[in-house]
Amino acid sequence: MIFETANFSECILCGSDKNLTREHKVKASQIRNTFKQDEMLVASLASAQRPKIAQGPQSKNLKFNHSICENCNSNKTQPADQEFDRFHEKCSAALETNTNPSEVFKFPPYNDNYNYLNVFRFFAKLLCCQIADNGGPRVRDLSSFSIGCSDNNIISLYISKNPIIERYEKITGHRIYASHGGLMVSTNLETGRIQKLISQLAIESIEYSFWIELFPAAQIELEHKFRAFCDKAREAVRVAGDRQG
Ligand SMILES: [Zn+2]
Repeated sequence: MIFETANFSECILCGSDKNLTREHKVKASQIRNTFKQDEMLVASLASAQRPKIAQGPQSKNLKFNHSICENCNSNKTQPADQEFDRFHEKCSAALETNTNPSEVFKFPPYNDNYNYLNVFRFFAKLLCCQIADNGGPRVRDLSSFSIGCSDNNIISLYISKNPIIERYEKITGHRIYASHGGLMVSTNLETGRIQKLISQLAIESIEYSFWIELFPAAQIELEHKFRAFCDKAREAVRVAGDRQG
């Protein structure tokens, strides 16, 4: 796996320094579909921050700090973005009938490898942005997969019912909900090295957890090249462990 420094002056996906724009943490179209009103609360599941009021889909609170170039944003990642919309609809419909949303993959259009990989390319892009925004590297295998330059899918995906949606509905009276989980890591108990980089996206009733797993050689490479990021991640794991007691 190749880890490179994630520069603010370069596209996090392809490395171009031309026409950079900031990507939404939760897709703008999903935000518009989900939130009909102008005002919404935005909070990271992983942070203890107080929720901020976002003014609408263009609010800076909803965007990553790192950028994507115009070409990646409007051309290379569009098929994956559109596929995610269709996929989310199918997962939501499956959950309505008490079917495991992952069953969606067994049927068209996901018997077609192009459509199947596009779902994962969407999550690869989000994970690239989450890793960079949390001080991590640009993960070349992940970024080239996200823009279709490679078919080597290293993303794992787990789809489940959004665990807080029912409590949320009781409090607010509706299911209008979208959040992202920031970046989470899991570390090897013996070596302390990072072995998984994980994020989450919850929209209405569905929670998507997606991650990459680092093999030992990649764990060592990350530790060697990005020690400060690894130390920060370990500290976050230790604090979370203390909290759970
Ligand atoms: Zn780009």
